[in-house]
Amino acid sequence: MTQQGILIVLSGPSGTGKGTICRELLRNDPNLNYSISATTRLPRAGEVNGVNYWFVSREKFQAMIENDELLEWAEVYGNFYGTPRRYVMDLLSSGKDVVLEIDIQGALQIKKKFPQGVFIYILPPSLDELAERIHKRGTDSAEAIKQRLSCVTAELSCAYNYHYFVVNDEVDRAVQKIAAIITAEKCRVERNNGLIDSICQTSRRAAK
Ligand code: 5GP
Repeated sequence: MTQQGILIVLSGPSGTGKGTICRELLRNDPNLNYSISATTRLPRAGEVNGVNYWFVSREKFQAMIENDELLEWAEVYGNFYGTPRRYVMDLLSSGKDVVLEIDIQGALQIKKKFPQGVFIYILPPSLDELAERIHKRGTDSAEAIKQRLSCVTAELSCAYNYHYFVVNDEVDRAVQKIAAIITAEKCRVERNNGLIDSICQTSRRAAK
């Protein structure tokens, strides 16, 4: 019997460095897969359809909701974002781990459906640093930056809903911490019941 993969949810304020952390995690762990979200947001310079997001129209997004094709969805900063269900479910049932990089509203929906998921909140070292990172990224308009920063305080207070906090003061260190969390989660007794049962049966047979 294949052991079900682990669903890992990463959230944190815009500009925290979730994207970079995800890329590093994926590079180091061949069993880990990234769930590409659907969004109605326009692509930023350098973003590619099917790599960063599935960029879809509002009509298409609405149809995805109606056809129950999304595991969760939310409106974030005036655009819609959602996690395509099929890709995630197929991977999990074939024993692959999946990382979702989604906002808090989506994370809460996923937590209801997958209480066994691993919920990690990534924090910036300070709010000043966060503002600087968003400005440096240079991909958002002044209005979008203002909107994102004004949401941060409210977002931070939701962080209590997660299982782990990781401060991204240095990418390598944050990646190491998250990789350690995933490793520890894989060793949890409740995720290994099948394996433990089969070892017990073998040892019982050997003892007869
Ligand atoms: P951005 O526009 O900067 O790529 O993403 C904006 C916010 O939307 C980020 O907090 C990101 O984590 C979140 N987001 C991206 N994809 C999804 C998704 O599929 N569902 C939800 N709920 N949020 C998402």
